[in-house]
Amino acid sequence: MITLKGKSALVTGSGRGIGKEIAAKFAKAGADICVSDIDLATAQETAQEIAKEYGVKTIALAANVAKEEDVNELVKKFVEEFGKIDILVNNAGITKDGLVIDMKESDWDAVIDVNLKSAFLCTKAATRYMLKARSGRVINIASISGQIGLPGQANYSASKAGMIGLTKAVAKEVAKRSVTVNAIAPGFIRTAMTDKLSPEVVKGYEDAIPMRVLGLPEDIANSALFLASDLAGYITGQVIAVNGGLAM
Ligand code: NAP
Repeated sequence: MITLKGKSALVTGSGRGIGKEIAAKFAKAGADICVSDIDLATAQETAQEIAKEYGVKTIALAANVAKEEDVNELVKKFVEEFGKIDILVNNAGITKDGLVIDMKESDWDAVIDVNLKSAFLCTKAATRYMLKARSGRVINIASISGQIGLPGQANYSASKAGMIGLTKAVAKEVAKRSVTVNAIAPGFIRTAMTDKLSPEVVKGYEDAIPMRVLGLPEDIANSALFLASDLAGYITGQVIAVNGGLAM
């Protein structure tokens, strides 16, 4: 069984959806957890739920990860609370879909800031501690959209492709100190993000996915658990696609 006993993990955007599942999966493996979300009440509720279920230490911190002051404060408080940071999962993300010819500059900026700039800011703040400790794991939640490009998602595809580039560049910078940086590229996963899609669109994706079903948050959390664990110590700069075969 994979264990994360003695480890502390910060998962951004973990009040709900994939992030919540990753936080719960890490807690089940014994890690202490910071549930961070833009909304404090959601983070607190999830942190309490996870602590009750798995008996690990959890804290809830609010942060808008697109803002440098928020991120620096978040990582500072995390380290004050846990004394170190072993695992960072850059999970917070949003969509603001539309054809590029109609896309507002503000929708472009919001998606790039929340999905990509946040990963830069959190990675910068957290790897300072990881480099000193000569150990750490950064896991970036990218997307199939960043690998193959999806129409109506120019901003989102660009942010997630950027995240993959960020993953590889930082992986090379920090590898010597035993800090690994990897990405997971989910396909279509059942969360609030995909609940926004019409049934026809979902049916279209199901027909296109070789496994014929959308994935579940747990499918992503399982890969994150592996990457966070000692089993993945020699894996860095990689992108693990978890998509039912939709892109190979
Ligand atoms: P979700 O259900 O919408 O959850 C996203 C979480 O991020 C929410 O808790 C949200 O908080 C939080 N968040 C949003 N903006 C934030 C900000 N500025 N600062 C901090 N937290 C913020 O989405 P999900 O489906 O779980 O997606 C999680 C990650 O997986 C995202 O990076 C997404 O791009 C990626 N992904 C998802 C899919 C999919 O099919 N679902 C596929 C590929 C990749 P509020 O709810 O309070 O706004």
